[in-house]
Amino acid sequence: MPIYNLGSINADLFYRVPHLPLPGETLTASDLTTGLGGKGANMSVAAARAGAQLRHIGAVGPDGRWAVDRLMEYGVDTRHIAILDVPTGQAVIMVDDAGENSIILLSGANGQISKDAIRAALSEASVGDTLLLQNETNGQAFAAQMGKELGLRVAYAAAPFDADAVQAVLPYLDFLILNAVEAAQLGEAMGLAPQDLPIRHVVVTKGSDGAVFHDNQAKTSRSFPALPTKVVDTTGAGDTFTGYILAALDRGLPIPQAMQLASRAAALMVSRHGTADVIPDLKEVQDARF
Ligand code: ATP
Repeated sequence: MPIYNLGSINADLFYRVPHLPLPGETLTASDLTTGLGGKGANMSVAAARAGAQLRHIGAVGPDGRWAVDRLMEYGVDTRHIAILDVPTGQAVIMVDDAGENSIILLSGANGQISKDAIRAALSEASVGDTLLLQNETNGQAFAAQMGKELGLRVAYAAAPFDADAVQAVLPYLDFLILNAVEAAQLGEAMGLAPQDLPIRHVVVTKGSDGAVFHDNQAKTSRSFPALPTKVVDTTGAGDTFTGYILAALDRGLPIPQAMQLASRAAALMVSRHGTADVIPDLKEVQDARF
């Protein structure tokens, strides 16, 4: 069944600099690499590579057509990505010789997605399809409410974390995924642990400590270890995990198998440099040896 992902699409611009710039300083970068990024795009690529029929709902500017083409090449249905007359979202990432970074984020077209566009995309959905959201676009609560009314499985990745944004979508959620820091922040804001939230399924990822699946309906929790791997770059591990778990659950895999598959995909991801462009496909994930 299709997964609809209302998600951000960014151009990731990595500048290699000798040190992070000081106020008023002009710095010469020694290198520039450009890639497809944004949590939404990463999750769409991960779910598509995991075998899901992924329909992305989003927007770019005229400078972002390449990103739409790239998503299409990765198997994502891009018919509901609008080309708007505003800049494409950007992450300008400065990385210094010590590996320290500073990031400037421009929301751009990700913050200009119209309700009509969301409505048009979701009007194609059927009961039981999945709607995925993260906190890098506008329109999350509107889409979540519509998704719930249509009988979709509404999933939310609470990143970048904002307590108000989570609470706005929370009444409509069937599935919530958070990392350990976000789980602690939500606990502080709401006074509730993940297993006490009024959401059927809650997953907490814990980096090298693996992940926990809380089935709050059955009142059970189960931990899944991270797979041993050589860590090169953890960027996109969480997004890969999210795309894979939702694709696997959508295909009807039981929870333990879905969690194991997502853990394998995320472990492969941390062993690679880059984001959307290096997310592993299902065969690589199944064949990988840990
Ligand atoms: P990011 O923001 O870096 O994309 P995140 O903070 O959302 O990630 P994490 O909890 O760091 O998410 O990682 C998600 C999953 O990736 C973990 O549950 C685990 O399965 C896998 N993972 C992360 N770090 C490692 C590691 N060092 N070794 C193996 N697997 C890892």
